[in-house]
Amino acid sequence: MNVAIGRSNRNCCGPCWVTHLIPVLLSLTMLSIGCSSSTDGAHRAEAIPASQPASSQANPNSLAGPPAGAQLAPTINAARAMGYLKEIVAFGPRPIGTKNHERLEEYILAHLKGDEVEDDRFVADTPAGKLPVRNIIAKYPGTKDGVIVIAGHYDTNYPLRDTGYVGANDGGSSAAILLEFANQLRGKKRDGYSVWLVFADGEEAVKSWTDTDSVYGMRHLAARWQKDQTLKKIKALLLADMIGDQDLNILRDQNSTPWLEDLVYQAATKLGYQSHFFEQTAPMEDDHIPFVKLGIPSADLIDFEYGYGNVFWHTPQDTVDKLSPKSLQIVGDVILQTVWFLDAR
Ligand SMILES: [Zn+2]
Repeated sequence: MNVAIGRSNRNCCGPCWVTHLIPVLLSLTMLSIGCSSSTDGAHRAEAIPASQPASSQANPNSLAGPPAGAQLAPTINAARAMGYLKEIVAFGPRPIGTKNHERLEEYILAHLKGDEVEDDRFVADTPAGKLPVRNIIAKYPGTKDGVIVIAGHYDTNYPLRDTGYVGANDGGSSAAILLEFANQLRGKKRDGYSVWLVFADGEEAVKSWTDTDSVYGMRHLAARWQKDQTLKKIKALLLADMIGDQDLNILRDQNSTPWLEDLVYQAATKLGYQSHFFEQTAPMEDDHIPFVKLGIPSADLIDFEYGYGNVFWHTPQDTVDKLSPKSLQIVGDVILQTVWFLDAR
């Protein structure tokens, strides 16, 4: 993931400025922050407007409350999700084009056995040459016409592939939560929209983050679904990224769709988890962007304050000991509750 920086839309090889931003965000209205990263050196952020809590934003949806007649969603088994996460991390670094990545593909498919699965494989042109990319899509039918997509990436950082980096939070947490969602969704037909789980591949930049060196899988999928008209069926996209941090602060992404983020906040409030949501606001570049560009309502749920100053992000310190099953519980339950709210809209 990444952030769009001010008007210039420059990147920081990830939204690294926002982590510097957070400690002072509440006291400043405009600021300029420098940052550096492990993969493409230092950049400079331009003036960024300070955050506003969701409740203060003038959007009628935030005042409307949950849709009438909405049902309570099931809650996930967070211990089981954490078990998946640990098994995924045990494969080691999992960037595209590696044996470990292939092992994880097989692991995911083995856990989706018996489900309807679409395999979306292609070869991407990257700064490191042609590399295989594979989105895995598990489909769970509903009674209502339309599809809600829940997505998260399973690849890990490419430039750090030889550093011992395992991406427990960045890549591991999103893959694990999707596997647990599959457990909650399989079985009898949903009384609501169909839900498709997209295990997105190639989210990470191969060299450094640009529009063409990032989100390889989701760019490919959005273009394909536009071409074959599948996009018309999609009512909403919920994206999970870096959701395992034991100090959980999901930010409000300015590139996401306001009414859908409001609905997420209502779901969080319904479950008593709202203190973990939307204290900070920032524009994120992540797997949702290709769908946002094509007009699909999208919400990126990401915690981009991973350790003080985001020190664990894209470093070999992104390990399981920084994470908590409680955080998986919170984000997992809020995502499912948002789906159940969408059913009733
Ligand atoms: Zn990353």
